[in-house]
Amino acid sequence: GKSCGACCGLYNYVDSSHEALTERLRARTKRFRKLVKTPEDLPLYAAATFAAEDFAKRYEVIYCCEYLGFLDDKEKKVGCLVHPMQNSGVDMRTVSFYGRDICAGHLCPSHHFIPLSQQLILLKIIDDWYLYGLCLTDIDLVVTYFRLIADRVGQEIKPEVFDRQALKDIALEYFGWKITWPFRSPSANRLGKYYFDGSQYMISHIDYEKFGKELSPLNSIFLSLSSEFQNKDELEAAEKMVWNNIEAFVSRYQDIF
Ligand code: SF4
Ligand code: SF4
Repeated sequence: GKSCGACCGLYNYVDSSHEALTERLRARTKRFRKLVKTPEDLPLYAAATFAAEDFAKRYEVIYCCEYLGFLDDKEKKVGCLVHPMQNSGVDMRTVSFYGRDICAGHLCPSHHFIPLSQQLILLKIIDDWYLYGLCLTDIDLVVTYFRLIADRVGQEIKPEVFDRQALKDIALEYFGWKITWPFRSPSANRLGKYYFDGSQYMISHIDYEKFGKELSPLNSIFLSLSSEFQNKDELEAAEKMVWNNIEAFVSRYQDIF
């Protein structure tokens, strides 16, 4: 399966760009494979990792776990290097900051608030681990989108629908905005919404009144994308981008099904 790693602090480094995280995880994975043969080797690995990396965080309350790495040689899956499946069944998570029980039993609010069918859709359409984790941990981004579409087509969208490349591409354009959104606030020192203890670290506010507008039905999506609009034109351009995407999806969907 594909994992996310947000709860292990993946996106909580000051530099949490795709490139920086790739380098970090790659080096860890290599170091781990080289140094760790038994649980007794873990302190050596941890010390080397703390010495090699900058562990400055965005949010102090979220731990950045040194055991998050790549699980596969192709670097497509992010996950826990001390998980038993990575170590011939030996569970070394007792060493972790959170402890074995939390690591093994933790399910973030996404598991609860994003319907399973929508979790499966993300799994199916997003190949890039970096984008996948950002989207999976952003409940509003996911749930609002599929609700707006479902309202228009009159039914919930099923994962099989995305066997159609055209529909997959439209959804991917939308989810890609998590990284490429042109109205993203430059001061927003955050990427995803982070959950571990149930708190949500985000929420800015968009002042619609200032632009002579009503609260947008897309408000929760705009907040998910850390939007900041300079003027009414920008706000309207943003609304148009999202509505165009949704309309394109709906019309393609109705052509096919
Ligand atoms: S989906 Fe949630 S519980 Fe699962 S790895 Fe991501 S943040 Fe952690
Ligand atoms: S030890 Fe726990 S917090 Fe660290 S990578 Fe593994 S699951 Fe995540």
